[in-house]
Amino acid sequence: MKILVVGSVAYDAVETPAGKRESQLGGSASYFSVSASYFTKVGLIGVIGNDFDSADRAMYESHGIDTSGLIEANGKTFRWSGEYLDDINTAVTLDTQLNVFGDFEPELAEAHASAPYLFLANIDPALQLKVLNAMKSRPKMVANDTMNLWIDIAKPALEELISKVDTLLINEDEAKQLTGEEHLPDAAKAIISMGPNSTVIKRGEYGATLFGRDFSFAAPAYPLKKVIDPTGAGDSFAGGFMGYLASIDKVDEESLRTAAIVGSTMASFAVEDFGLDRIKSLTKSDIDERFNAFVNLTRFNPLT
Ligand code: AMP
Repeated sequence: MKILVVGSVAYDAVETPAGKRESQLGGSASYFSVSASYFTKVGLIGVIGNDFDSADRAMYESHGIDTSGLIEANGKTFRWSGEYLDDINTAVTLDTQLNVFGDFEPELAEAHASAPYLFLANIDPALQLKVLNAMKSRPKMVANDTMNLWIDIAKPALEELISKVDTLLINEDEAKQLTGEEHLPDAAKAIISMGPNSTVIKRGEYGATLFGRDFSFAAPAYPLKKVIDPTGAGDSFAGGFMGYLASIDKVDEESLRTAAIVGSTMASFAVEDFGLDRIKSLTKSDIDERFNAFVNLTRFNPLT
């Protein structure tokens, strides 16, 4: 197993200008693992309730995802409800029910604990830390995501975690909230001073900017005609970003730049339909074609 991911596995209720879904499979770990599965072998650590549909577990497995760390507990699966009616780039959380995540104790089998790439997807930072501490040795690369809720209610644990990761992926508003900085480069600099070597600041339809210690790189969002459901765009970005790095087993400036475009490619698919509907049914040529469209979108000649 190349990448281990811990994060939420959820049933989401979502409303966007394109329509409404009452209970669709989601969660940060679902989007991440399905997206990364197109590039490398992924293991998923999480918890589901007795209400979890076996067809959803089968969907992960059809992507070659190792679900031996997806534990069923007594109770209901995590539920999140949100809408994007005022601003398609910003989720407004209407309700969060941790349910079985409330007292989840992650346990890592040998194969999980020795994964060389670790993604700590958005979930309580205490759980992210537990999984990081349970690794047999420091993975080659550790990255994490988070959200405003954890900045509000669990900042000390989140800061401890950020001090230990290589890359933080975070939304623009949350980067500003976390650091107290108003401008993107200042927020990125503040994040890097907390520990990571790089940070990806996600900006919805305006793309994402990757900041390293001495470089930055702008990845646009693909100019889609219609965004149906932005849920999971960030996690799908992370899945492409880290899935690509794990597949080439290299983390340097050049590979991080390419990884940011692979991330944008996967995020662009995620938003084309509700939930995982588009991203779960991609072919290699869909991905190659969209990636090449990005090459064209960003190609220009130097001034002569
Ligand atoms: P994003 O990629 O940021 O759009 O992530 C969307 C996913 O995050 C949804 O499928 C939700 O189930 C999940 N989510 C929302 N709130 C939380 C939370 N507090 N902890 C963990 N996952 C969450």
